[in-house]
Amino acid sequence: MPERQNYISRAVIEKIQASAQQIDEMESFPHENFRLLAEQGLFGLHISKKYGGSEQPFYTNAKVVEEVANVCASTSVLLCTQALTTCLLELGGNEDQKSNYLRALAEGKYPGAFCVTEKQAGSDVSNIQTQAVFNDDSYVLTGEKSFITNAGEAGVYLVLARTGSHPTKGLSFFVVEACAPGLEFGEHVETLGVRGSSVGTVILNKVSVPKENMLGIEGSGFKLLMKTFNRSRTLVGAQGVGIAKGAFQIALNYLKERIQFGKPLSEQPIIQCMLAELGTKIITAELLVKEAAMHIDKETSEIEKYASMAKYYATDMAMQVTTDAVQLLGGYGFTKLYPLERMMRDAKVTQIYDGTNQIQRIIIARQLLKE
Ligand SMILES: Cc1cc2nc3c(=O)[nH]c(=O)nc-3n(C[C@H](O)[C@H](O)[C@H](O)COP(=O)(O)OP(=O)(O)OC[C@H]3O[C@@H](n4cnc5c(N)ncnc54)[C@H](O)[C@@H]3O)c2cc1C
Repeated sequence: MPERQNYISRAVIEKIQASAQQIDEMESFPHENFRLLAEQGLFGLHISKKYGGSEQPFYTNAKVVEEVANVCASTSVLLCTQALTTCLLELGGNEDQKSNYLRALAEGKYPGAFCVTEKQAGSDVSNIQTQAVFNDDSYVLTGEKSFITNAGEAGVYLVLARTGSHPTKGLSFFVVEACAPGLEFGEHVETLGVRGSSVGTVILNKVSVPKENMLGIEGSGFKLLMKTFNRSRTLVGAQGVGIAKGAFQIALNYLKERIQFGKPLSEQPIIQCMLAELGTKIITAELLVKEAAMHIDKETSEIEKYASMAKYYATDMAMQVTTDAVQLLGGYGFTKLYPLERMMRDAKVTQIYDGTNQIQRIIIARQLLKE
């Protein structure tokens, strides 16, 4: 692997690694790991110092996500979800919103939640039905958000709601504090992977928020969402790289030790072919993530294309690498004796959330056809 520098202390990574299996088995929200990441200042890496961050290049953020995903994907979701909320506030928040909410999220005072998806509006965000009706200096929010990570755990919920009839220009983001009357939660959703995440329905039952809690101007929600996704998708790509590297290393170690037909499996040409392909794809994905991060830092016009490329390529790669790693360990790969089955389940969701990989291909093709 090309990148050898460690972006997080080994002691922290070892602690996170030690808890990974239990978090998965117990489906327990990683509170202790959230505290650890906050203590290390890892939630505000890309955020300006003025708002509690450390103004690092976006690539540093990606490497941190990768290193955590390498040992515990559920914990890396904490970083990705926090980045969704901090990026959105950085892009769309005013001074007050940044001093208050962005600072708290960047410092890891509490987790944030990013509430876009609804039952009838998954890939098709333009079909969002949650209403925000202006009434007496406040907006009253009514609707239901599905599959929300950190539901019930977050201190603030950034909610995309309809303020007008235009499919995309009629959407606006609002900051809803966890204590807001009328904010309720449905049942926790049991998932195949990243089982430490708290995923559930967020119900907005006539939640009144002051008009000052709107992010940006009315109708700017869709544009802000797309800009935020460019950043978060790059981090999901990094998550894919981290999961894949973790699985690949376990397979490499195993194949050097496992003797069949009188010699280590790593000496079998067919196995070596598989290793060559997987190793090349991991590095390709890592370089794509690096490229996307560079476009974010330089604010180029190609951010969207590279973010989607990094997201889809790295996460499809993670699915292939983890599946093949299970195969390379034979029956042992299929058991809980090794963490590969967990890594394979965790890799799956990276192809789905933050915009599915089919949607990423649509975005890339659209950009290529424009050039
Ligand atoms: C664990 C987890 C955590 C999540 N966390 C959050 C969160 O914190 N906040 C949030 O807002 N959402 C969250 N989501 C929701 C996630 O972003 C959506 O599931 C995702 O965007 C896909 O929407 P959908 O599930 O409704 O699928 P659909 O949009 O119904 O798509 C179903 C299938 O059809 C494909 N498809 C759809 N449209 C097209 C098309 N035009 N062309 C080709 N294929 C297409 C999709 O790629 C997919 O394979 C989370 C989901 C999961 C599983």
